[in-house]
Amino acid sequence: MENNQRPVIIMPEGTTREVGSQAKSNNIMAGKILADVLKTTLGPRGMDKMLVNTIGDVKITNDGSTILKEIEPDHPAAQMIVDASKEQETNVEDGTTTVVVLTGELLKQAEKLLDEGISTSTILKGFKDATIKAKEVLNDISITDIKKENLVKIATTSMKGKGPKYDIEQIAEKLVEELLKVEKDGNINKDQIKLRKIHGESMESTEITEGVVVDKNVLESEMPKDVKNAKIALLQYPLDVKDLSNKAKIKITDPEELETYVKQEENLQKEEVDILANAGVNVLFCQKKISDISQHFLTKAGILSAKRVKNKDLERLSQATGAEIVNNIHELTEDDLGTAGHVYEKEVFEDTEYIFIEECKNPGTISIIVKGTTKVVTDQLEQAINDAIGAVSATLRNKKAIPGGGASDMAMAKQIKEYANTIGGKKQMAIIGFAQALEELPKALAHNAGLNTIDIMVQLKAAQTKSTNMGINVLTGNVSDMLEESILESTEVKDHILDSASEVTEQILRIDDVLAAQKQAPVGGDVGSPMM
Ligand code: ADP
Ligand code: MG
Repeated sequence: MENNQRPVIIMPEGTTREVGSQAKSNNIMAGKILADVLKTTLGPRGMDKMLVNTIGDVKITNDGSTILKEIEPDHPAAQMIVDASKEQETNVEDGTTTVVVLTGELLKQAEKLLDEGISTSTILKGFKDATIKAKEVLNDISITDIKKENLVKIATTSMKGKGPKYDIEQIAEKLVEELLKVEKDGNINKDQIKLRKIHGESMESTEITEGVVVDKNVLESEMPKDVKNAKIALLQYPLDVKDLSNKAKIKITDPEELETYVKQEENLQKEEVDILANAGVNVLFCQKKISDISQHFLTKAGILSAKRVKNKDLERLSQATGAEIVNNIHELTEDDLGTAGHVYEKEVFEDTEYIFIEECKNPGTISIIVKGTTKVVTDQLEQAINDAIGAVSATLRNKKAIPGGGASDMAMAKQIKEYANTIGGKKQMAIIGFAQALEELPKALAHNAGLNTIDIMVQLKAAQTKSTNMGINVLTGNVSDMLEESILESTEVKDHILDSASEVTEQILRIDDVLAAQKQAPVGGDVGSPMM
């Protein structure tokens, strides 16, 4: 071969390439930055972040997943961590901030170990062993007494993390009460839980009820507004003048004919209402239109009726009451009707009434009307309730709980270090690194609460030699027994945090080559910066 070869082009023009340690350190850097952004929001004393999007909408939150959804980092490694946090949210709702913070700390430890000349594969092996050990410790320190009282503590701890600064114990208690009613063999079907938000009222008036809430009012003031032993029809059929326009042109020449025509129209609508009345219906939810004339007949028949009800609500009503959704009223039979012990209209906010369907035939549906004085408060409470539902569901599933406030993190760290002592070589250092990353979690909780982290960590380590339940109550600033302080968490949520953080750390550390295609500049726009 001659040496006038043309270069071999295997990548499109504009592709950038980062190789080996440069790729790795950039990825680690991205993960650390992301973790540092979220770290200050961790725990009940975490700070809020104000997010402003490109059109100027403002959101104030201290929820990890909410923040991540908004910032959409531009760096691929950061994006991997965001995905891990989203996955945490999908699976267990709670723990989304902790995943990111722990991943960042693991990456920091990995960076140090790499600098000390330890290979990536040794680090990964050490982290893997440490994860297994950590989960064993979690299992050992778990309590298995999952009575209602403890579930309320788990819900409260989870909600407190999200920052509503008010008394949330009552909401937590009511929530657990309802969740226990709909639990089936340790499972809660989240599709059957519906949250609605109203702002302008105090948080304490948040309503959590078993059953379905339809955000419509009863059509007419003369209709019944409180029905016991309801027989419910669900219609996807308009109770309206039938549209004859494209079928036939009606030519009416004298006034008498007009009157007959109108009468006929009226009769048709009356017949349809009669079908309902004859089947024994006393409550009607219609997805379509109800005409004034039909409304008049429904009132006369004493049927509590609502129109333009959303499809999703009809489905929920169908599931809860056993009613079939009927598309053609002429096919409706008594078998299609659902039942509920109590259907009534109630004012949920000034001049806003909703219809509540309670004591349903099939339990399993929960309706939550989240209230708060402002949109910010309402959004935070909604997020807090979602996290609590996740934490309580996870606890019902695996029937285990652990002390919060950094207690479990310290217990894991301590035993992982003891385990490391039994192992020689460089892997030992990686295992110790994992333990040190865990210790950063209570440190962050304490730091966010303005406590002296050095002092408190010394106290915490000493207290942990006596009991693995010792943690930091950041609301009092004391190291104390977390079970006595009612700071309790789901073991499954923490398990999931460990798995997700270890997995994404491994994925990131395994990358030693980043090939990035040139970004297409949006028309008239600019290419985003490569780092976050
Ligand atoms: P995540 O999104 O990961 O759930 P949070 O911001 O909700 O993060 O914070 C959760 C952490 O807050 C948990 O480690 C929990 O133990 C801790 N926590 C909750 N209440 C307290 C408290 N009173 N004192 C100390 N830590 C608390
Ligand atoms: Mg939480």
